[in-house]
Amino acid sequence: MSNGLNWKMTLSILVVANNERSSKLIKNTLEKAGHEVETEVSGIEALQRSKNCTFSLIIVGEQLADVDGVEWLSKFRESDKGTKVAFISNSWGNASLYAVLRKELNVALVLHRPLRTSLLGAQIEALFNDSVNFQDSPTTPHSEVSVLDTVRRRFRKTLPVRLGALTKLLRGCSSSENLDLLSDAQRLAHSMKGTAGSLGFIELSEIMCSLDDLCSTMMEDISLLDSEESWRSVEKLTDLAAAVCKTLNEQSVSDLNDTEDLCTDAARIQVLYVSKESPPTVTDADCRDSLPMQIIHVRDAKEALSKASLVMLDAALIDEVGDSLRMTFELARNVRSLTGHENLPLAFIHQLGEGPDDTIGATHAGSSLFLNKPVNAASLVSTVEHLIHLRQGGRPRILVVDDDMTFGEIIINILGSEGMLVRLLQDPSDIFNTMRSFSPDLVLLDILMPSISGFDVCRMLRSVDIYKDLPILFLTAKTEVDARVEAFECGGDDYLPKPIVPIELLARVKTRLERSRLLKDRMQNDVLTGLLLRRPFMEQMNALLSESKRHQLNFSLGLIDVDHFKIVNDTYGHLIGDNVLTILGQLLKRRFRVEDIRGRWGGEEFIIAFRNESKNTMMGALLRALDEFKAMTFESDDNVKFHISFSAGVGEFPSDGDSIPKLLRCVDRRLYRAKDQGRSTIVMDQ
Ligand code: GH3
Ligand code: MG
Ligand code: MG
Repeated sequence: MSNGLNWKMTLSILVVANNERSSKLIKNTLEKAGHEVETEVSGIEALQRSKNCTFSLIIVGEQLADVDGVEWLSKFRESDKGTKVAFISNSWGNASLYAVLRKELNVALVLHRPLRTSLLGAQIEALFNDSVNFQDSPTTPHSEVSVLDTVRRRFRKTLPVRLGALTKLLRGCSSSENLDLLSDAQRLAHSMKGTAGSLGFIELSEIMCSLDDLCSTMMEDISLLDSEESWRSVEKLTDLAAAVCKTLNEQSVSDLNDTEDLCTDAARIQVLYVSKESPPTVTDADCRDSLPMQIIHVRDAKEALSKASLVMLDAALIDEVGDSLRMTFELARNVRSLTGHENLPLAFIHQLGEGPDDTIGATHAGSSLFLNKPVNAASLVSTVEHLIHLRQGGRPRILVVDDDMTFGEIIINILGSEGMLVRLLQDPSDIFNTMRSFSPDLVLLDILMPSISGFDVCRMLRSVDIYKDLPILFLTAKTEVDARVEAFECGGDDYLPKPIVPIELLARVKTRLERSRLLKDRMQNDVLTGLLLRRPFMEQMNALLSESKRHQLNFSLGLIDVDHFKIVNDTYGHLIGDNVLTILGQLLKRRFRVEDIRGRWGGEEFIIAFRNESKNTMMGALLRALDEFKAMTFESDDNVKFHISFSAGVGEFPSDGDSIPKLLRCVDRRLYRAKDQGRSTIVMDQ
């Protein structure tokens, strides 16, 4: 749907990178956003192409088929100083590379892998913001193709009812002088002002604005309730509104067909369903409180991988593919190896036996759940909901708290078009339940709502520790200075006036999201391996311990240490050593279930915890990871190939220790025993 919004621009983009998967992902994402994208793997060819043709933007990877990306860029800059360039860096936190790129090579944007496709379009477009007028003007002819138009039609259709309700409240107040009725009327006028304005019904928005003000004045000075003049003004305004509404609906008799689905695919939960059998039909009604789902059905591993490399996924359900379970597990591992899918939650559809081998294989491949056959809509929906809840990262999740359904739909469409998952909450008294079940990355709050004000909702959220750093933005038609000041005083991060301008909303939401993710990343994750630092790992362990005690569940813990790592450093250099650690970090991240906890314990030591799994399962899964690690070939700068292994100690709560210090001592002891036994092994006894 993104191509339906008329503020989009078209850029011609050349992607120069050796990594075919990344290029494909970028091409697909940006083409969906309406841009023209060409790809090239060879640096020499790319130089030639950029000379023959002008591109608005060149996206360069760190590694090209024939030269290094930085080297290529230096060469490119010798003859072209002006073209905008974005650089995809394989690691982030490399400050000196960053400085060279930005200062010497005039790189406009440094992207980091894994790429976040949901943000890519906006990041790129932001580079061209100044030169483009994004304003979604209601007079632009293209606006009629926009999905927003469906919302407009729907709003127009509901106008007589809304206006009727408003007039009734005002009349009631006029005869009874009941202030509650006046306050309800004001709220209605206020919400119509914001929604009508955002949808481009400017005249109606202005009338509602006057009514909103008039009601406020009357509430402040109740003597005005007796003034005939006030009521005449009210009547004049409601008559005017009725006339505007009539004209609007006369214009639109021919296009009242609004049966089309408002929710764009991007705003749906995308589920990859790999099975020879068709999935059950899942209707939006089946999804009840959850977001609607789109089930992408593929029949075999090849189709699954090609789909997965092209679309954003929120979860995958995998039935047996090929003739053996081994192939199913392999498919799961391959999907999780794709850029952007490292923490994709998975479930296997299968009647698995309880044998330990299946559990180990499934855990190693990353399956969080088994979904029993026959699969029906209800079991599918609840499995997907569970998987989505487990996921950290993934697509940005936005909670919109607004009592006005139509306004909520506008937001869902704008943010959904950029791949965010948006949920609308109309009754703010339900906020904590929704926060728990949806775990949003950002909250958009309306201020004036029937039961409680947005300011109070914000204060309530801020009083809870885990929501202290959550980005909260106010979206409201209340634009007085006092309201803006209060928005910040109660802990809001930003403030957006209604009517909203789509590009402004997107830009602010994305900036907040990216900033809060970067901050979280920096505070929690180790730069080299992407795994949790020791302190956040311990915090999650403490939570796991209390959870396991409460529900009387076990969990397992493993301490991993790379073998003879000092020799790697001494022989091949520290940079090669760093590379080994990065790759082991990636392996640990892509294997096992998304809900498992992984950290860098320090130096060349890693730590891992499996929720509700025995040490036997961990032992089996780690042995498989060890085999994979040993099979990897590393290469020194002068092309000497070498292999490497690790050792580990594994223990279980509560049998090997009923506290974290005890468990840690136990696994540390076992790790030493593994080293004593000759390394490249895992110990879980004594
Ligand atoms: P063992 O099999 O007994 O574990 O031998 P080892 O050589 O792996 O163990 P030792 O503790 O003697 O050496 C660990 C080395 O890891 C020493 C240290 O310089 C290196 N190291 C720690 N952190 C990093 C890092 O971030 N990058 C690199 N390249 N090396 C690191
Ligand atoms: Mg060590
Ligand atoms: Mg070591």
